[in-house]
Amino acid sequence: MTPDEAARLLAACAAFDNRQPSEMAKQAWAAALRGVPLDDDTFEAVARYYSAPAAPGETGRRWVEPHHVVSTRQKIREERLGTTIPAYNPTDPNEDAHTFVNRRRAQLHAIADGLEQPIPVQALTGGPHPRVAQALGNVGQMPTDEPYMPEGFRESIGMAAAPPELRIPCPKNGCHALIRQPCKTPHGRRRAQPHQARTDAVHATTGGAA
Ligand SMILES: [Zn+2]
Repeated sequence: MTPDEAARLLAACAAFDNRQPSEMAKQAWAAALRGVPLDDDTFEAVARYYSAPAAPGETGRRWVEPHHVVSTRQKIREERLGTTIPAYNPTDPNEDAHTFVNRRRAQLHAIADGLEQPIPVQALTGGPHPRVAQALGNVGQMPTDEPYMPEGFRESIGMAAAPPELRIPCPKNGCHALIRQPCKTPHGRRRAQPHQARTDAVHATTGGAA
């Protein structure tokens, strides 16, 4: 921010702590917050610094400093990011690393600005968000508790073929096992048999051929 912008931010601080405006302060704050824009998040950081509940043992008056603004503003933006997974691009699953990094960076920026919603990763018991499930279903042949095996490799070394139920995610509430993952008990243990709903679903999609 510029020295004039720093003066506006200091005026907002003064509303909380009665500090006196000074030329030196505005120059110093502009230098300390050179890379920080004067936006709603920055003003919000000051307000939040003064409204936060007192820490145990905290007495004296609060006095906001540039580093508080930086760390609180960062926290505000991180809260918006929430827990996100790397963005899967449904239109181009083969995009190269460079394009992915740029797109991901732009996405994180947009989420931190509040312009885009993060893709939530839900609690394991609740099953993943459909968009997450779709993304995960497209990640190679990577069952959770088995080493990587190319399609058809199990059969080629004489192992039993994967059960047909594993070709689809489990529709049962509380399970929602992903493609190629076994069904789980309510305690998260692997079930020996897939849920009936999954068996019914796979037979419906294959017309009973499986
Ligand atoms: Zn299941």
